[in-house]
Amino acid sequence: MRLNPKPVPIDLTDDEIRTAVADATVAPLLCAVAQLTGDQSILHDDLRPDMTKIFEPNAGYSDEQLGRARALSADALIRYRDGGCHAAPEPAGAALRTLIDFIGGATVDDDYVPLLTEELALEGEDRRAPTWTKSDVAPDRDFRVAIIGAGMSGIVAAHRLAQAGIRFVIFEKNSEVGGTWWENTYPGCRVDIANHFYSYSFAQTNEWPGFFSTQQVLLDYFRTCVDELGLREHIQLSTEVLHADLDESTQQWHVCVRHGDGREETHVVDAVVSAVGQLNRPKMPDIAGIDRFEGEWFHSARWNHAVDLTGKRVGIIGTGASAAQFIPVVAEEAARTTIFQRTPPWLLPVENYMDDVPATLRTLLRHVPDYGRWDRLWVFWRTHESLLKMAEVDPEWDGGELSVSEANQVLRDLFSMYYQLMFADRPDLVAKALPQYPPIAKRVVLDNGIYVTTLRRDDVELVTDAIAEITEKGVRTVDGVDHVFDVLIYGTGFEASKFLTPMQMTGVGGADLHERWHGDARAYLGITVPDFPNLFLMYGPNTNIVINGSIIYFSECEAHFVVESIRMLLERGARSMAPTTKVHDAYNERVDAGNRSMAWGVSKVSSWYKNEFGRVAQNWPFSLLEYWQQTRTPDPDDYVLR
Ligand code: NAP
Repeated sequence: MRLNPKPVPIDLTDDEIRTAVADATVAPLLCAVAQLTGDQSILHDDLRPDMTKIFEPNAGYSDEQLGRARALSADALIRYRDGGCHAAPEPAGAALRTLIDFIGGATVDDDYVPLLTEELALEGEDRRAPTWTKSDVAPDRDFRVAIIGAGMSGIVAAHRLAQAGIRFVIFEKNSEVGGTWWENTYPGCRVDIANHFYSYSFAQTNEWPGFFSTQQVLLDYFRTCVDELGLREHIQLSTEVLHADLDESTQQWHVCVRHGDGREETHVVDAVVSAVGQLNRPKMPDIAGIDRFEGEWFHSARWNHAVDLTGKRVGIIGTGASAAQFIPVVAEEAARTTIFQRTPPWLLPVENYMDDVPATLRTLLRHVPDYGRWDRLWVFWRTHESLLKMAEVDPEWDGGELSVSEANQVLRDLFSMYYQLMFADRPDLVAKALPQYPPIAKRVVLDNGIYVTTLRRDDVELVTDAIAEITEKGVRTVDGVDHVFDVLIYGTGFEASKFLTPMQMTGVGGADLHERWHGDARAYLGITVPDFPNLFLMYGPNTNIVINGSIIYFSECEAHFVVESIRMLLERGARSMAPTTKVHDAYNERVDAGNRSMAWGVSKVSSWYKNEFGRVAQNWPFSLLEYWQQTRTPDPDDYVLR
């Protein structure tokens, strides 16, 4: 998989060019072609996307508009070819602004422009790279960082530190990099964010085989990034961090690790970056008798590939994003599949969810690679500017447990149509599968039809009676029915609220991080914690999103903040920084209030976004722009600098 490819000169016939644009999404196509050719006249005003129509087929474009947009793009590419394929200079200033306003559907707020320019990273330029190196700022000072985890977040943190010339080591408990994309090997596992967006801004590729990559492809991508960015030599695999303790006299961390051979070792570092993820430790449900089952059983994140499901009676507990992906595969193999559903997911029909990228689009991407970057921005903008607003609570709205605002009710009606349509002849399935909570209160599950088709199968049963207990033979539901199985699969999610477990972290005055949190993790910007100087969290508390954006976006913001924090330490000659309690508490009060005004915060529905106290400890309730702005530069006044 090549990263950041350059455009290949066009050697296609007119017809081949017209075919190449035939499967492209119109708004990013027009922007990418206008950028490459420098011909902005193709950006007709009436071809701007309408953000209120993104759920309509072809995002609301009429056939005439689609045809015209493609013809304009093809003609511009033909002229570009005939002119010798001289790419226009990279757009800047007003020219870039015109493109951004076009894809945004209307004039984009000025504040967004620098962020969107970074996100675009046109022509492979890494606009988020640190603008300084340690040798500029503090050449004589040694500063070494331990990163915990070589998954998606650890990789970006390491890359930024490397760019800034800061020494680091990565400890990874697994025998390979990739984090969640290495651990989750269940059949059907794939990402539910379009590839061009679920990838690093600084490492784009046009070689995604599908629109939404499978686990294997993503693992390959992250391995490629590790190798191409030169990070592998810094990674100690099969090395688990057991505990990290602050030495107050030096403000350094003593990080105790255990290697694969059982050997324990302590590393002394100046800062610790935890990049252990939220969806890492499998969660087994608290159901009576769970140890009694005599057949085979496993959790989706620890899939036992040695168990052949062919012809077996399989019980599945859970209907979250993981289960929704493996249920159709299991149902194909098993003799009988029984799904125990506590809460049905909202399904979002996405036709191309499992499709390969067609040859036509691959051709376009080869010659117009920045199509992928504009597609990235298109996904960013349309989810952010339309879906997020639909999650906001209108205090005047009287939707009970079903919706939180008029816009949310519109979404509910729209989503409900899918159930009515796909289960038109199965009112029993509508009754069981149609959620009775507001859309966006839980993670939406994408479906190209495979999930609903699976529920309709004669050899599949959707059980909504609560589970009373697990027995030797299977599952007993509260109605007294015994469901007998050969295999039980738990798609019951992760210990998402138990941030950083089972590691122990000891900070100022011997403070234990888990005792401090007491199951209710909080951090300032999700990154720093009072009394734990130079401990930086990636994907920490309240940095998850439900519907808009990609976690990679947050990780890139956090990595930037970590590197800028180290710069602040080096420039000021300080050894360490930890946020003041006042700043931390005020920040968290605001985040809590923000979450209380979002669908996932007010709805009583069960979700991994809430911790045992019912507080939303996972989600960021504000705009992506705001997180970006807040993580630009640390404000020294927010920190105790030692
Ligand atoms: P999850 O969303 O937490 O789902 C767990 C499922 O198990 C839910 O249906 C839950 O029911 C059920 N459950 C838990 N305890 C139960 C009990 N005691 N009795 C009955 N049912 C029980 O976990 P997940 O599906 O692994 O997904 C977690 C997150 O990972 C997703 O939200 C997403 O962010 C990410 N993910 C993404 C993808 C992707 O990109 N395609 C794929 C997989 C996961 P309730 O709903 O009633 O709690």
